Amino acid sequence: AGVPLFADLPGDVSVSFEFFPPKSEKMEAQLWDAVEKLAPLNPSFVSVTYGAGGSTRERTHATVERIIREAHLPAAAHLTCVEASKAEIRAVAEQYWEAGVRHIVALRGDPTTEGGTFVPHPDGYASAAELVAGLKEIAPFEISVAAYPETHPEATCPQADIDNLKRKIDAGADRAITQFFFRPECFFEFRDKLATAGIDAPIVPGILPVSNVAQTRKFAAMCGSIIPDWMDRLFEGLDERPAARKLVAATIAAEFCRTLYAGGVRDFHFYTLNRADLSYAICHLLGVRPIGEKA
Ligand code: FAD
Repeated sequence: AGVPLFADLPGDVSVSFEFFPPKSEKMEAQLWDAVEKLAPLNPSFVSVTYGAGGSTRERTHATVERIIREAHLPAAAHLTCVEASKAEIRAVAEQYWEAGVRHIVALRGDPTTEGGTFVPHPDGYASAAELVAGLKEIAPFEISVAAYPETHPEATCPQADIDNLKRKIDAGADRAITQFFFRPECFFEFRDKLATAGIDAPIVPGILPVSNVAQTRKFAAMCGSIIPDWMDRLFEGLDERPAARKLVAATIAAEFCRTLYAGGVRDFHFYTLNRADLSYAICHLLGVRPIGEKA
């Protein structure tokens, strides 16, 4: 069961926000608007994604630096192993350390061709676990890694995927952030399995506030997340009604997050897609208030 909306929550949660590096000036303005709206919620960190094959290397770096310099937020840079040698990864990581970045989200990444299989660079890291170990040798970064409540699509079985997560934590990762999911019970079951496997690092649910089912379906197809039938039904007929769609989206996300809260979750990571409103509304409903405005 969730927490009814009329139950006031004390805001005893910590939140983090994920952004992607903008491609144009217009997108840069949109990102910055989102950063400025969300910064007062005092996130424990914000993170900036890394495009396939390092395609956003410069833009990720510039965005992370700007967030640290101008928004004074602890910013984490995502980093992948795709098409990069260990030496190249070392150079990127050292640059981050020099720029004041202390937190890396360490990922294997996906092949640059859609539907292709991941082939490690001949002088590179073959998995995220190897990357974590490599980064720890470069500098004492705080490290987050990815976890999959509905199992990573390439894993041979759920237990193998959990064993892989354990290797990443054992290599030095501090927390895992999950792929998005829409059934709270799948997160709770996953959390229980991780506890049984002896994983005691924090597992932070990745929350994708959905306002566009078609776009979400595309993301979900790529990463193996399941979109329940009820979600389609709840958005049915709202394509041409953006205001109503947004209200429905906020209601779904609020119920989802408050169900996680009722199940003991206190850390939430939001895939903002560089838009602040839905994430802000959910944080508000979780009891989070801007700094200086607490009752
Ligand atoms: P790994 O942990 O290495 O796992 C990959 C697969 O290999 C899994 O199926 C695992 O079970 C299996 N595996 C690994 N090692 C072994 C082994 N020794 N034996 C058997 N099986 C093994 N992608 C980007 O390109 N840029 C981003 O910025 C980005 N950010 C992300 C943020 C989060 C929070 C999440 C959840 C994902 C993100 N991704 C990003 C997507 C990610 O790169 C893909 O999901 C990728 O396919 C797997 O990356 P990983 O780090 O989980 O890989």
